[in-house]
Amino acid sequence: MSDADQKITGFDLWYLSLPVVSARDHGIGRVDGACEVVVLRLTSEGGETGWGEASPWVVFTGSPEATYAALDRYIRPLVLGRKVGDREKIMLDADRAVAHCTEAKAALDTALLDLAGHISKQPIHQLLGGKCRDAIPLSVSLANPDFAQDRALLDRLREDGVRIVKLKTGFRDHAFDVMRLETLAQDYPEFAVRVDYNQGLDPEDALARVRDVATFRPDFIEQPVRAPLYDLMAQIREAIDVPLLADESVFGPEDMSRALREGICDGVSIKLMKSGGFARAQSVATMAASHGIGAYGGDMFEAGIAHLAGTHLIAATQAIDLGCEFYQARYYLAEDILETPFPCDGGHVQVPDAPGLGIRPDLDKLNHYCISRGRAA
Ligand SMILES: [Mg+2]
Repeated sequence: MSDADQKITGFDLWYLSLPVVSARDHGIGRVDGACEVVVLRLTSEGGETGWGEASPWVVFTGSPEATYAALDRYIRPLVLGRKVGDREKIMLDADRAVAHCTEAKAALDTALLDLAGHISKQPIHQLLGGKCRDAIPLSVSLANPDFAQDRALLDRLREDGVRIVKLKTGFRDHAFDVMRLETLAQDYPEFAVRVDYNQGLDPEDALARVRDVATFRPDFIEQPVRAPLYDLMAQIREAIDVPLLADESVFGPEDMSRALREGICDGVSIKLMKSGGFARAQSVATMAASHGIGAYGGDMFEAGIAHLAGTHLIAATQAIDLGCEFYQARYYLAEDILETPFPCDGGHVQVPDAPGLGIRPDLDKLNHYCISRGRAA
């Protein structure tokens, strides 16, 4: 029996509540207390395991409860008994079995690749075609409603060699955003600054506020208005001379196609949690690149498994060329769930070369933070 013929015999879920170190405000939503993520473990008949993580944000992609149900009730039966090598077909079946729930499908795709990687002893980036880069510039988001705490974080980032920050804006008044941009320019000039509204602006004053922020010459301004407002995104893009990025407006290739047609952005945030898997994420990147549009590796409120999945995606996708923001494992969670720290060094995420994702989750931590565990197969 070849490795790819091995059957999947185990499907286990952990619903985790992971404490965070501070509140964060992001345009249309707040995170405080804890993040909730769902972790999936697939087991092959040979006893190998593959892990995946679903990291929803309820105001953005969906709820953790829906994610858990999608995996537990609708995806589990179509995975058990299937061959490890049937990833493409399994993903198609998952897409048909449950609408949306892209985070659940991202977790499934990650676990299938991690399992195949451990069986074949290859890193996921190798299974995706090989890596184009060994390290990925890290951007850390500033979203603390208490800016004094973000200043302390900036000092730590400076020491750690991080040189890109993304300022979350639009959750309070415009003066607060301007004050923080002025502080960054004056006191932290070594940082490249990106701005992300997370859909936080009202249509009436969005253009005026974005125009004003553009005078600070950030690298880009991201998603100032609600996701469906494509016309307004296009108008804002037309009115400013700083690149405009789409995040919430573009989940998968279908959205990217429309975004390109309607000219709403100069760049796009690519996330496995939005695309629902690696192939669709790579399609978005390829479509963007074919129009000369840049892409970066965004994330949700993730733990280390999802960060690793994104790291392999970017390592193997040349077109995702604006770095990544996989900072939560190190800078936001009170404790991550990996056996060894998520690999960041000198302001870059280091791409692992060990089989699969490259680092395993720590089972003790999973059980410690678990508030509900799926039934064993
Ligand atoms: Mg964003």
